[in-house]
Amino acid sequence: MAIIGTRDEVVRPTKNAMPDFFFDTALLPTGWAEAVRLTVAADGLIAAVTAGASPEGTDRFAGPVLPGLINLHSHAHQRALAGLAERADPGTDSFWAWRQTMYAFLERLTPDDVETIATQLYVEMLEAGYTSVAEFHYLHNQPDGQPYDDPAEMAVRLAAAADRAGIGLTLLPVLYTQAGFDGTAVAGPQRRFRLDVDGCAVVLDRLATPITGSEAGQHALGLAPHSLRAAAPKAVTELVSLRDQVLPGAPIHIHVAEQMKEVDDCLAWCRRRPVDLLFDTQSVDATWCLIHATHMTMEETARVTASGAVVGLCPSTEANLGDGIFPAERFLRQGGRFGIGSDSHVSVGPVEELRWLEYAQRLTTHRRAVLADRSRGSTGRCLIDWALAGGTRASGRPIGALAVGHRADFVVLDGQAPALAGRTGDTLLDSWVFSGNARAIDTVVVGGRSVVEGGRHRAASPVADAYRRCVAHLLG
Ligand SMILES: [Zn+2]
Repeated sequence: MAIIGTRDEVVRPTKNAMPDFFFDTALLPTGWAEAVRLTVAADGLIAAVTAGASPEGTDRFAGPVLPGLINLHSHAHQRALAGLAERADPGTDSFWAWRQTMYAFLERLTPDDVETIATQLYVEMLEAGYTSVAEFHYLHNQPDGQPYDDPAEMAVRLAAAADRAGIGLTLLPVLYTQAGFDGTAVAGPQRRFRLDVDGCAVVLDRLATPITGSEAGQHALGLAPHSLRAAAPKAVTELVSLRDQVLPGAPIHIHVAEQMKEVDDCLAWCRRRPVDLLFDTQSVDATWCLIHATHMTMEETARVTASGAVVGLCPSTEANLGDGIFPAERFLRQGGRFGIGSDSHVSVGPVEELRWLEYAQRLTTHRRAVLADRSRGSTGRCLIDWALAGGTRASGRPIGALAVGHRADFVVLDGQAPALAGRTGDTLLDSWVFSGNARAIDTVVVGGRSVVEGGRHRAASPVADAYRRCVAHLLG
């Protein structure tokens, strides 16, 4: 029997909230292990992990077990838009036309709608194997641009949706002060997004109680300048100062270099590319998460990797919007860190994000297993390990590993799924990532509590009923 660790760093006394879990095989930080017993404290954190243990008195899972996957980039309300901008009509097939479609939809959304849509989305995420989401939240105001009576109304609704679904949440209120690099004032539909640094401080203050009052590590806060297009460098610097005062060490996320037009506009405005501008004006470090960063020169890539910042890749959305292909091979060979997100939610599942991250590299290099670390061999294992590590760092929560002090968030694959038949160890992960077309997940547990069983979320039916009514109303 090997003791992997004990929870000696916990300050307050806890009692066991539930029977121990037992896994016939599980992916631990040290690799695959057999006969693993997991003890979870009342606060949902892992208190002990023991390999080679007895199953006596435990809840036993035969299917292979992985840490829950982490979604580091979501705009929840966009779930209801997925698939509505796929026509080849003249003038409507670009990223910028898609954005207009989104803006028109946004005019109608109420806080109730957002909570209903987010709950459905988070249920889907859990069924797909995500146990944590970072919500890049910019839908702050009423349609006319006035704040709600509670300026954090929409953020509170997102937190309520996460709690209803049972997914871990990193909530990132977004700084959004201008409509373009040149400082053009926000107008029209974008008025719903407008929030300056003082406004971010108010929202954070309002969120502090419900967010920090949740179970240990289940919620966290960070901040997000929307982009250098929507927040000037000076405002971004002020936001980072706010973070340092009230949330030291918390994650900072920003969209950067997603579209070539954004790069061209930035060059025209300041003769620098967006990633260079960001690094020239901010002290970017490992607390930063750069969303997309699709268009980077060699020098920009080196600046990102040297900083320790995580890049947030959303391959299904980036493909859907025609953004371009992230230079993943070069980035990883330089020691870069990444996590994955579902962003616009045209696809909600880690398998498709990881698969398309690798496939885009294969299609452009004419090689296979492009992103696999040669010393480890398995592409699926490497992609999952990296996405867990990068997602954890970008989420600012104790997640991403079956280890003492982390949230007891895990996914039990369906050992009977045909796609996984006869597979063991890393080959299981390769088969799940590259051929797991039907959902191959049996159970999902968050903070020691089962939320998905038999592949289905416990509240899937009523949540979907409410979602259908909401969307029918919005599109009616
Ligand atoms: Zn985004």
